[in-house]
Amino acid sequence: MVNILMFGPPGSGKGTQSVTLAEKYNLLHLSTGDMLRAELAAGTPLGKKMEAIMAAGELVPDDVVIALIAGKIDSTTGKAGFIFDGFPRTVEQAEALQKMLGGKGMKIDLMLVLEVNDAELMERMKKRALVSGRADDADENIINNRIAVYRAKTEPVIDFGRKAGFLRSVDGVGSIDAIFGRLCKEMETVI
Ligand code: AMP
Repeated sequence: MVNILMFGPPGSGKGTQSVTLAEKYNLLHLSTGDMLRAELAAGTPLGKKMEAIMAAGELVPDDVVIALIAGKIDSTTGKAGFIFDGFPRTVEQAEALQKMLGGKGMKIDLMLVLEVNDAELMERMKKRALVSGRADDADENIINNRIAVYRAKTEPVIDFGRKAGFLRSVDGVGSIDAIFGRLCKEMETVI
């Protein structure tokens, strides 16, 4: 089993690249953002509770996303491992993930960080808003808040990965194919 963290600021291309990496390396793609949006769309009590937090671009509580992930990492049928997309987003989540994987005899093998500057992130998310229908992509203030939340609460996870020795930074600017190639090079070091 090989477990990959896809990391980077909102709009850095985590979702797009995770989907193709999951296909190429036969990994189960787990996106907490997608899981939460599915709860919202289904109108579940959890979805209703999280809606305002997500619309504001804030992080939902750690225990909520940890429970969502805990419910999924039992089901690897036929897969070579997991690619976590948008999780962990706090050091607490990272520690919880390490513990959960450790309990199953697994570990985090690689943390891929997509490096993209703020101006490019803003451009990409404004473009994505035209097709995604996501409320949190549509408003410049919310996009700025999401980037600020990333810098304050999520970036510390990079230090966590550096200390643990599984961190790899990748230039996230360029064509989707070029960035995919850079990510694959890093993947080959653990596959
Ligand atoms: P994403 O699709 O990854 O950009 O996530 C969309 C929104 O879902 C975020 O802005 C948060 O409100 C929430 N969210 C997704 N993943 C997490 C996470 N790991 N921790 C906290 N909140 C999350």
